[in-house]
Amino acid sequence: MTLEITHLGSGSSGNSAAYRSEDAIVVIDCGFSMKQMEKRLILADIQPSDVDHILVTHHHMDHSKSAMRASKSWGARLHSNLETALRMGWEPVSDVRTFADLDRVVLGDDLSVIPIPVPHDDADNVAFIVSSGGERAAYVTDLGEATEELKGHLKRCAHISIEANYDHSRLLSGPYPDSIKRRISGRGGHLSNLQTAKILEEVVSEKTKSISLCHLSEKNNAPHIAESEVLVRIDQYFDGDLTISKKIGPEFVHHLG
Ligand SMILES: [Zn+2]
Ligand SMILES: [Zn+2]
Repeated sequence: MTLEITHLGSGSSGNSAAYRSEDAIVVIDCGFSMKQMEKRLILADIQPSDVDHILVTHHHMDHSKSAMRASKSWGARLHSNLETALRMGWEPVSDVRTFADLDRVVLGDDLSVIPIPVPHDDADNVAFIVSSGGERAAYVTDLGEATEELKGHLKRCAHISIEANYDHSRLLSGPYPDSIKRRISGRGGHLSNLQTAKILEEVVSEKTKSISLCHLSEKNNAPHIAESEVLVRIDQYFDGDLTISKKIGPEFVHHLG
């Protein structure tokens, strides 16, 4: 069994990634317009009508925008937690298969995910650990800090997609008002390059085959800064692929198994 991971795009204007095993296709986050979602899936060699499940991490539009429409149009089952479904106004809520934190959601004979709660603004956000064929891949974005629970799961993942949202000095000297700077860098905001580097330093081992840094801020970050900040901390433990996920996808197909 193999698990194929494709980033369809990442950033404040939209996020989505596709996970394909031999028995199911799962899209995590559906934060682009329908037109963009379908275009990117087709470029990734996935027919939208072949998508079996759509999972949404939280209600912010860059993760949820077209999820309900796509679910209806593609005939894919929509999953989120209850808070996200209510905040999105998805009705009837019974059309959404709601999951609880840390409960395994079975999506195929050999494909399942575990939602892990993460702190983020006023959202009930989750990270996902996708399991197939004995391999695990993590999708971690929009969080102010990583919990011990999340780090425990990341240690067992062969692929880690994790946000590296901002460079701290760029954020401080950048154009945002102080209140937004405080929110982004607070416990419920986003991970800085340094925070992400420190998390990876704790969890990376010879088990880690590939890492994708995602959700980079266009104003407060740059790919070469994020990459070098992370590499400096993990270089001695990690010899897999490190890639930066950009807003225009699809890109970086990773194969596990
Ligand atoms: Zn986001
Ligand atoms: Zn968010």
